[in-house]
Amino acid sequence: MVKNKPTTLACNPPPEAAQTLLALMHAQGEVARLSEREQLFSSLLDSVNAVLWAFDWESRQVLYVSPAYERIFGRPAGLLLADFNEWRDSIYPDDLDYAERSLAEVLVKGAVEDREYRIIAADGQVRWISDKCFINQQSDPDQRVIIVGMAEDITEKKQLEGELQRLATTDVLTQSSNRRHFFECAQHAFETARLQQTPLAFLLLDIDDFKQINDTYGHQEGDYVLQRIADTGKAVLRRGDQFGRIGGEEFAAVFPGCTPEIAQQIAERLQREIQRLSFSHEDKVFGVTVSQGLTGITEDDESLDSLFARADAAMYQAKRQGKNQIVRG
Ligand code: GH3
Ligand code: MG
Ligand code: MG
Repeated sequence: MVKNKPTTLACNPPPEAAQTLLALMHAQGEVARLSEREQLFSSLLDSVNAVLWAFDWESRQVLYVSPAYERIFGRPAGLLLADFNEWRDSIYPDDLDYAERSLAEVLVKGAVEDREYRIIAADGQVRWISDKCFINQQSDPDQRVIIVGMAEDITEKKQLEGELQRLATTDVLTQSSNRRHFFECAQHAFETARLQQTPLAFLLLDIDDFKQINDTYGHQEGDYVLQRIADTGKAVLRRGDQFGRIGGEEFAAVFPGCTPEIAQQIAERLQREIQRLSFSHEDKVFGVTVSQGLTGITEDDESLDSLFARADAAMYQAKRQGKNQIVRG
């Protein structure tokens, strides 16, 4: 009957039917709006280059992960939603402890914003991730602790930071530590030696008659000599020793845990290796020698400066005594 009289129904509907119809239209509008919003959110989440995620702490279940996960981690999101271990498996082994500890910290702090760790993406590449996390405030009413987070790929930023750090600490010509960085490391080694009452030796090295090398063979050849001497220094020193170019043709070394006797042997080896270097310029062959001043930490040394001053005085004595030698101060 209704089917045959659609116009009558439309023109003069009984009040309940009208209400139902209105409610239906309203619901349809609401569904359309929600669907529009969902599409909007979904396209927003898709375009954000960060992984947004939600995690149920008690059940250890990943509740949500945004599309960027597959791009950055290179793994299917479905696997992570099915098993939280998928996240653990993607972390660079050395960083796993830290990544887990810092995630747990959010329970105490409410937010952990400085979390950075490395992952191994599916293509085998190591990537740096900044993974901020927060307790979801709305997780209180039903007693579930939901942690939400945002993971970003910061690999390029890290590489840039590393490069800046290298530029700030390295001498451009010789690629050894620059003066400032050398003394920072030396200071640290000095403080450790004082605290732990362990030996420490300090060495200064100055090239003999370097001005003459520049004058005879040219500044470029002089630069090359500096590079070869720096390379020799790096090759002769042990791991953990500090070596740097602290002036034009002046280098310094710190040997943590090393008595002056042991440091003397290293200095002698350095002296021999430098003397064995051979340079040729046009048809002339020449060599180079260095003078070294060496000293060890004593109980009276209040600061690194006093070791430096003793090594410097010893080095100048080596110069006065005829150069090409090591003097202990
Ligand atoms: P001594 O045996 O007494 O140490 O004499 P020296 O000639 O080595 O010392 P001096 O201090 O008179 O000269 C050092 C020279 O080192 C002067 C300077 O032009 C040169 N020099 C400093 N920095 C550089 C550099 O980066 N490259 C080159 N090629 N030469 C440099
Ligand atoms: Mg000098
Ligand atoms: Mg010199």
